[in-house]
Amino acid sequence: MQQPGMLSRKLFAMAKTLIPGGVNSPVRAFRNVGGEPFFVRKAHGSRIEDVDGKTYIDYIGSWGPNILGHAPVVITNTIHEVAKSGISFGIPNPFEVEMARTIVDWVPSVEKVRMCNSGTEATMSAIRLARGFTKRDLIVKFDGCYHGHSDSLLVAAGSGALTHGEPDSAGVPKAFAEQTIVLPYNNPEALEKLFTARGEEIAAIIVESYPANAGLVFPKPGYLDLLSSITKKYGALLIFDEVMTGFRLGRAGVQGLEHLSPDLSCFGKVIGGGLPVGAFGGRADVMDMLAPVGPVYQAGTLSGNPLAMAAGLAQLRELDGARTSVRPDAPVHNGFTRLEQLGAHFDTGLRRLLTEKGVPHRLNRVGSMFCLFFTDREIVNVSDVMKQDLDFFRKFFWGCLEKGIYLAPSPYETGFISLAHTEADMDDTLTVFAEVLAGI
Ligand SMILES: *Cc1c(COP(=O)(O)O)cnc(C)c1O
Repeated sequence: MQQPGMLSRKLFAMAKTLIPGGVNSPVRAFRNVGGEPFFVRKAHGSRIEDVDGKTYIDYIGSWGPNILGHAPVVITNTIHEVAKSGISFGIPNPFEVEMARTIVDWVPSVEKVRMCNSGTEATMSAIRLARGFTKRDLIVKFDGCYHGHSDSLLVAAGSGALTHGEPDSAGVPKAFAEQTIVLPYNNPEALEKLFTARGEEIAAIIVESYPANAGLVFPKPGYLDLLSSITKKYGALLIFDEVMTGFRLGRAGVQGLEHLSPDLSCFGKVIGGGLPVGAFGGRADVMDMLAPVGPVYQAGTLSGNPLAMAAGLAQLRELDGARTSVRPDAPVHNGFTRLEQLGAHFDTGLRRLLTEKGVPHRLNRVGSMFCLFFTDREIVNVSDVMKQDLDFFRKFFWGCLEKGIYLAPSPYETGFISLAHTEADMDDTLTVFAEVLAGI
């Protein structure tokens, strides 16, 4: 088994006696790569440093939120300033209005929005709202799409397209899971068959706008349009889960790139600037079903707290700005354009390297999100993702970590580039990749 430095090992041993598995979120336990995690002491820009003093170029960015890199001054200063006036009031504050204004301005399909504290809360609330609005119970999700850990959404594929979902976790009542139908992704026939049979019972389809929690998978041409037209036809709602892609792939996320207008959208990660935030929004007539105006209950003690709102706003403004203070030396550009530039640089170099070395691969990338698969089969859905060479991935992961490159400790996770990364970081990364590949 691969192991991190001594202080990390000590902390993990103690953590395991106090916290289930030693972690507060399962993927952090490094079980998918067969080893133990390192503990982080601090992080800055594109680098994180572990408690044993080893530094890594980080391609996770806290699993998505840290799009400006770690500890950007714009956010740390904002948090310091705002906190002096109070951390949470539990009564409206001006930052909430400004956050809502920003989301509504940037995402055309969102007419009204409600803030919450995580992506899980956002998707959980959005499906309750869809059920309340349509007065129907069934939710459709896709195999391999992750929407957080609420009961109704922790459901894996059943045996066939029309079967009810089986709970994906102990503790989820079968009766809940039965209200969620799981379909294979990128399969129009399965979708049409289901709606023909049960379309009138379906409250909503929820989909990761680009599925990125079981590898990174793209919709086939026309697939997202089909989701949109079929929900309209049967009076169901379309919910885009943009918790990962929202405010990362442009001002309006995937729906902006694909020119689509879902009924509801869920956000998280980037909008919190590294603090715990989620949001869901969409059509005003649907959103107005929420308490206190409508009958669908949803609430949160810390929802919309000034610290998280201000941190998120600072991040969004910085992303949108013509020149970022994260890298004042960078050429003038909008943050999203710059992220695409960095992503393309990495993409080109990585493809060249893998081809040169004769490593079978698929590289899926959009903007600053990427996922490398050690396989030569086309990646259409989660079953393709599962068929890659996992043993090769593990060796690659540990080889890179050893040499100071931190990739996700799981072959099913998407990598992230931040505005703090440089072309030089990526070239260094590719040099390490070449060395590691030579040793496998
Ligand atoms: C991360 C994620 C979630 C869950 O968000 P949390 O803040 O971890 O609860 C939901 N949907 C998608 C697409 C995600 O990537």
